[in-house]
Amino acid sequence: MGRLADLDKKYVWHPFTQMKEWLETEPIVIVKGNGCYLFDDKGRKYIDANASIWTNLHGHNRKEINEAITRQLKKIAHSSALGLANEPASILAELLIENANSRELEEKSVGTKQPRLEKVFYSDDGSTAMEAALKLAFEYSRRSGLSRNPRFISISSAYHGDTIGAVSLGHIDLFHKTWRPLLFHTDSVMSPYCYRCRYNKAKPERADARDYKKCNNECIAEFEKRFEKAAKQGKPYAGFVFEPLIQGAAGMIAHPKGWLNSVCKIAREYKALLIADEVMTGFGRTGVVKSAADERVIYPGLFACHKEGVQPDLMALAKGMTGGYLPMAATLTTRAIFEAFLGEYSEFKTFFHGHSYTGNQLCSAASIASMKLLLNKKSVYERLKLEITLQKGLNTLWELKNVGDIRQAGLIAGVELVKNWQTREQFDLRERAGIRVCQAMARRGVLTRPVGNVVVIMPPYCVGEQEINKIILSLRESIEEVFK
Ligand SMILES: *Cc1c(COP(=O)(O)O)cnc(C)c1O
Repeated sequence: MGRLADLDKKYVWHPFTQMKEWLETEPIVIVKGNGCYLFDDKGRKYIDANASIWTNLHGHNRKEINEAITRQLKKIAHSSALGLANEPASILAELLIENANSRELEEKSVGTKQPRLEKVFYSDDGSTAMEAALKLAFEYSRRSGLSRNPRFISISSAYHGDTIGAVSLGHIDLFHKTWRPLLFHTDSVMSPYCYRCRYNKAKPERADARDYKKCNNECIAEFEKRFEKAAKQGKPYAGFVFEPLIQGAAGMIAHPKGWLNSVCKIAREYKALLIADEVMTGFGRTGVVKSAADERVIYPGLFACHKEGVQPDLMALAKGMTGGYLPMAATLTTRAIFEAFLGEYSEFKTFFHGHSYTGNQLCSAASIASMKLLLNKKSVYERLKLEITLQKGLNTLWELKNVGDIRQAGLIAGVELVKNWQTREQFDLRERAGIRVCQAMARRGVLTRPVGNVVVIMPPYCVGEQEINKIILSLRESIEEVFK
């Protein structure tokens, strides 16, 4: 084993990792990256098929981002946002706000009154962006008289991060039961998980369950009932927290078209704030958008909720924010929420929350460069092409008996492994089906991580057709090998 692997095993404790198992194997030690490829200390080359845990957008060692960081580095790396403004953070804030009130949103929501996102609160990662959103929603609801005791509701099996507030908003039992005594209570409402929905009367088919489901949209009716009941009890929800279009860590649960729009309308009728967790879905992950008015116009599709004609009151951004280079996050919000915290100093209405590296210059510079790449016309077309290539590749996997469902939302895909597609029978988590398949893929030079029994395919946007084909082939061979 190499010296670096030795040092790792001796000193490093890895996140979400059973370290007993880790210590028994030899870790892959990454020493460099280029485009969609990662290279280890032994000179082996891998495709980064989950974009380094859903963060990388434009590939590693990307010239434009490298240069932006280097340019900034020669000026200053960091000065505090407590009491000081800085150059790139100010410019980035404008860029974020311009795109967070997008033309595609306007087009999708004609006739509905939407809030405008106008303010950017910076933080460091997805968890802190959600934590800030939660605190802002809580305090805003109290100050505006909407609720004395603000309660929140989120989607079942939701994941919103690992700090205590963010964990409280989530509902993955495996992650949460240990911390239960530390958490505050939030309600959950059923996820529109068509493939495993008790209301879906359709027999399994060789297609995405959202396309052949037979139901009466009971998920929306249930949602409405929950809000109605809470209001009747005099304890209305202050906020509805959701991942738009697709729930990531819940198992790449892609929602049926129209669901988010419908439930957000209901939540709005009951005066709940909409809190969108776009930590995974943001920055173009869920694909570009064709204009309904003019076929030739393609929007960059930066934010998933806009595709459903939904503008939230709070939007949390992180993972892809710097193109996958540096940790940075933001919570975007409205003037109304911002103003609830305005007052004389002595009133102490200040938002007492913040982090040491808030609005960091290197992160901001990387993020501006990444945004510019995202908005570039050529890259918009490339993302459209990539989405189609990915779909074609995924479609070839339906012939495998152990593939139960394939869910794609733009440039995110989840392949759900089952014992037998005709029965939808699940693997017990202890069988480590997803992990074993991903290990077999790694041996073939493709790196990704599963969520439970769902293999995630989410490459950087710079992958070509050849790499997509290699990812799909390695997944196919690995499934055949593991379940032969
Ligand atoms: C990853 C993730 C988070 C947490 O972000 P961190 O940067 O890991 O703290 C929150 N919400 C969603 C939807 C995520 O995918």
